[in-house]
Amino acid sequence: MKIQSIRGMNDLLPEQSATWQYLERAVADVLGRYSYREIRFPILEQTELFKRAVGEVTDIVEKEMYSFEDRNGDSLSLRPEGTAGCVRACTQNGLLHNQTQRLWYTGPMFRHERPQKGRLRQFHQIGVEAFGLTGPDIDAELLLITARLWKTLKIDHAVTLQINSLGTSADRAKYREALVEFLTARHEQLDEDSQRRLTSNPMRILDSKNPDVQALLNDAPSLKDFIDEESRTHFEQLCAVLDAANIPYEINPRLVRGLDYYSKTVFEWVTTHLGAQGTVCAGGRYDGLVEQLGGKPCPGVGFAMGIERLVLLLDELAVVPDSVGQTVDVYLVAVGDVEQQALVLAEKLRSDCPSIRLECHCGGGSFKSQIKKADKSGAAIALILAEDEAKAGTVGVKYLRKDTSQETIAQTDVTELLKHHF
Ligand code: ATP
Ligand code: MG
Repeated sequence: MKIQSIRGMNDLLPEQSATWQYLERAVADVLGRYSYREIRFPILEQTELFKRAVGEVTDIVEKEMYSFEDRNGDSLSLRPEGTAGCVRACTQNGLLHNQTQRLWYTGPMFRHERPQKGRLRQFHQIGVEAFGLTGPDIDAELLLITARLWKTLKIDHAVTLQINSLGTSADRAKYREALVEFLTARHEQLDEDSQRRLTSNPMRILDSKNPDVQALLNDAPSLKDFIDEESRTHFEQLCAVLDAANIPYEINPRLVRGLDYYSKTVFEWVTTHLGAQGTVCAGGRYDGLVEQLGGKPCPGVGFAMGIERLVLLLDELAVVPDSVGQTVDVYLVAVGDVEQQALVLAEKLRSDCPSIRLECHCGGGSFKSQIKKADKSGAAIALILAEDEAKAGTVGVKYLRKDTSQETIAQTDVTELLKHHF
């Protein structure tokens, strides 16, 4: 039997990788324009890091982590998200001491969830984190970045922004009490999942996908009545920037997010085009996290976007330019005993015209079969080198996307021709 990949861990085939690169380059470019710098940290960390950062009673830590004992008996986990590792790396390397940092990272994350469209066990995120800044201005900047990115990718019409404020952890403790009191009185109306959460993580009930539970919540106490003056002002100022920058948003008082570490601002960009997995980007402020992980107190705010979901959306909306899948400009056909000359000519052309993507045919074969390959490659021009041309120092030029007849030119003139054409 052939060995298969692990369920929910997909291969990324060359056909799809062009779109991924297109997306990743667009993000890196936008982030660069806001002076964010890339940070890289390991995929494996101590399990304890995620327990402390994400929270013991979250879905991630309770049932989704890939944890194992390594050969020394240490409990390690594949990262289920990036913020914990990013904070650990920054603290350990002294990046947060009296400084601000604007950072981003990308890579695989691992969660043992039920695989479905837009939900995988190995998935990929691009994460952005800003440290050392307390005000709503930096929260707003992160949202401006995402809004610009959606515009760049031409998906801005398909995503909407939802925001909320979670207040401080003291505010949430008071609210949690009120919510638990309200829901305990209606215990038998809750589904099993929500009943379980009532004792472990009651705020997550607000997140429930069950319409009956959502209906019940209509009369529940609202978090916004519990948040303190400072959080309220912070939130109002954030909204004011969004208004001034013409970024539409919806205040969703039930947006609580699945991780424990958030405070004040939380947000999600959602789309209706991907079915149940509609959140393409999510984040918020986490002022207590650095201290919780043993660092000196340092405010932070960030978000992560799911690459698979964004790629699905790009495909769904057909907004990726055709040129993105196009990888060959010129195809050099080499017929007969001319391999050496062909490779040398190809090298010269690559040196002369660095922006041109040139595929040199290898492996021989008839003229007909090679021209077929040239055509299939998507190249605009086939250069033809057979034994006659090789002897004469010439090359045939065939325009594959134009109805003109083949011509023969000196090899020394090819550079000029390519520079002119591309
Ligand atoms: P969801 O509610 O969809 O499970 P989440 O709140 O668990 O999302 P976050 O931890 O906030 O997700 O991760 C940020 C983003 O990463 C999500 O908005 C989504 O785009 C993506 N993401 C999260 N989990 C997965 C997954 N299992 N497969 C693919 N993408 C994911
Ligand atoms: Mg989840």
